[in-house]
Amino acid sequence: MADRLAGKVALVTGAARGIGAAIATEMAREGAHVFVTDLRADEGANLVAGLHGEGLRAAFAVQDVTLEAGWEDICATVVTTFGSIDIIVNNAGIVITGTIEDQTFSDWRKTMAVNLDAVFLGTRAGVRAMKQRGGTIINVSSIEGIVGNPFVPAYNASKGGVRLLTKSAALHCARSGYPVRINSLHPGYVGTALVQDALADLPADFGERTLQRIPVGRFGEAAEIARSAVFLASDDSSYMTGAELVIDGGYTA
Ligand code: NAD
Repeated sequence: MADRLAGKVALVTGAARGIGAAIATEMAREGAHVFVTDLRADEGANLVAGLHGEGLRAAFAVQDVTLEAGWEDICATVVTTFGSIDIIVNNAGIVITGTIEDQTFSDWRKTMAVNLDAVFLGTRAGVRAMKQRGGTIINVSSIEGIVGNPFVPAYNASKGGVRLLTKSAALHCARSGYPVRINSLHPGYVGTALVQDALADLPADFGERTLQRIPVGRFGEAAEIARSAVFLASDDSSYMTGAELVIDGGYTA
């Protein structure tokens, strides 16, 4: 086991599967106590059981990140379970496809609730919880918070919002003298269930055309995103705050 996060306590949302699960796993392997939350109880419990099987420290609770009232409780539970809270990864996210002509307002609102409102709630809760002892917050945005995609207007808007929310919060903490660093992570295409489901709704050649536009010629692995999250959570990134870390095989270069 490596030890870049030894003794740290991390809360990772939406971590029952996909990129969040990879982040929770990498952080635990780097010595963190990892508190996993998600709507998916069975997958979350299985992930934590697997981490326990590796001799790592982890716990799971069901959390709907869109519920404001739940955030105070979940932070308190993390502290009760593991003694502190040092890292929050606001990772939970959804994609609902549709162009600007046909995306429903209801789908727009659902996307904003999970991808942007919840990141606001998690960032605010994290700053309040960590401003004395210090910590780091990582907000999972996307390359689609930087460049547009005609098939996901709400997703684009939500992830662009995460990018600037992160900078505003980071500036507040830095200027207030709080030892809290806040950065955004911008993954490119990773073949998780979220992407597979979105591809199923898009034109048949969208996946192939996307692959052709990735300079390194392949999709990313969740573990590659997770190692960047470990970097942002660790002291290796001690001079980074309000920054955006892009991991996209050169897509936006
Ligand atoms: P995923 O669908 O595999 O995992 C997302 C998880 O979030 C699921 O386990 C889901 O249950 C959970 N979730 C959804 N709504 C929730 C809610 N209200 N409360 C709590 N949990 C909730 O997707 P993923 O690809 O692993 O995506 C993780 C993050 O990475 C998302 O924010 C996504 O936008 C972002 N991202 C993914 C890619 C990619 O290519 N996969 C690229 C860029 C950014």
